[in-house]
Amino acid sequence: MRYTGNKVIDENKQGEATLVDETSELKNYKKLYIESYGCQMNFSDSEIVASILIGEGYTTVADFKEADVILINTCSIRDNAEQRVLNRLRNFQGLKKKKPDLIVGMLGCMAERLKYELVEKKKVLDLVAGPDAYRDLPRLLQTVESGQKAVNVLLSREETYADISPVRLDANGISAFISIMRGCDNMCSFCVVPFTRGRERSRDPESIVTEARDLINKGYREVTLLGQNVDSYKWNITAKGEILNPEEPIVKFADLLEKVAMVSPDLRIRYSTSHPKDLTNEVLETMARHENICDYIHLPVQAGNNEILKKMNRGYTSEWYLDRISAIKRYIPECAISTDVIVGFCGETDEQYAETVDLMNYVKFDFAYMFKYSERPKTLAERNFNDNVPEDIKASRLQSIIDMQLEHSHLSNKKMVGKTCKVLIEGVSKRSENKLYGRNSQNAVVIFDRDDLQKGEYVDVLIDDCTSATLFGKVIDKYSKN
Ligand code: SAM
Ligand code: SF4
Repeated sequence: MRYTGNKVIDENKQGEATLVDETSELKNYKKLYIESYGCQMNFSDSEIVASILIGEGYTTVADFKEADVILINTCSIRDNAEQRVLNRLRNFQGLKKKKPDLIVGMLGCMAERLKYELVEKKKVLDLVAGPDAYRDLPRLLQTVESGQKAVNVLLSREETYADISPVRLDANGISAFISIMRGCDNMCSFCVVPFTRGRERSRDPESIVTEARDLINKGYREVTLLGQNVDSYKWNITAKGEILNPEEPIVKFADLLEKVAMVSPDLRIRYSTSHPKDLTNEVLETMARHENICDYIHLPVQAGNNEILKKMNRGYTSEWYLDRISAIKRYIPECAISTDVIVGFCGETDEQYAETVDLMNYVKFDFAYMFKYSERPKTLAERNFNDNVPEDIKASRLQSIIDMQLEHSHLSNKKMVGKTCKVLIEGVSKRSENKLYGRNSQNAVVIFDRDDLQKGEYVDVLIDDCTSATLFGKVIDKYSKN
């Protein structure tokens, strides 16, 4: 698998525990174990939860068997994500039989839908907190300690946790995630996010810039700005265009990118996710103007056929999507582009699927995350369409595009052979102690000799070999540290 900070669902990280250096100053601290599933936004939320609970006298532990409180931060995006969490809960139940005072709670996207079943019916959980209820966790935990069950799944129109400085779980200390907005108003017909994470709201830009500044002062060299649809980030203006405070400037996503890029030339900026219907030329111009905004865009297409895109309620056609691809190449010729694709959406015919294949063949994405359609409760698709593409057809369509994409990723890496790229060193390679790895601006992983180099440094690497997932090369220059 390719290392990528912006990965939608990073298989290597599923179920990883949130562990922090900061421990409570209280001696009688309680031991907290948080495990996270799903997208990067969930991992970022676990850092907020850890921050809130450390302030309440908790410390994090790596082994759930040592914990006084186990929290599992969940994902609902596809059915298999939910099944994985439900299996994991069985392990925690086993421990609870031996340790009756153990508190087991569920956070995140599965909270709302499964609260009744898991708290009251099956009684496998003591506590459930939805994505906007994390400030309430200390009270919820006290309620459980007093012998009752505790549930808060209220969604908010305002909560952005802007004032909470998340503790960092990143092992590398070099790259971090900053949430810039929460929720989503798009209502793509296949997607459960608007139901689990609520309405879209943007976070105060000053708190974002302060967090980026704080991170660079602590030695971080890369931030990824996170949101479900970053292009609709807005501050001081409503979705209808009403200005909230005429004395203050309006901040849109391009302005925010610029502000964060200005924090330091040594801080790399990435972001995820862009929506094709909202990606503006202004954003592309801003990216082209700042060397430290990486040449990489994740632009999920989902499908290549216009009828399917319409049923998906994506708000664009394949022609519009291809126009956005041309615009990216015009403003940033070296820009890498990745995408998300869903196969086997309701009623998808062979011909409609073939148009997805054609589009992928035409664009030749540098990377893609590919999924079989999984029907989700409450969504527009569940209510309006039949999930009628047989499982074996979904599976064979998925395998075909995975095979094709592997070739495209290899092609993209081969184009780098013989070229030099600037790489931010992230750490020691998993395969060899004598090698380091980092990523270039286009988000490709680069492996090279360790020598006397350190993580956090920028180096120029001449690429001399590649696989479909990795570039290999020699360091030919080092940037002086500021
Ligand atoms: N907000 C982003 C967007 O609009 O592209 C990403 C949202 S989602 C967390 C990540 C990806 O999961 C989507 O782009 C889509 O490809 C996939 N996905 C979402 N719902 C799905 C479903 N019901 N079945 C299969 N894949 C799904
Ligand atoms: Fe889901 Fe669409 Fe929102 Fe992405 S933009 S989170 S796919 S509703």
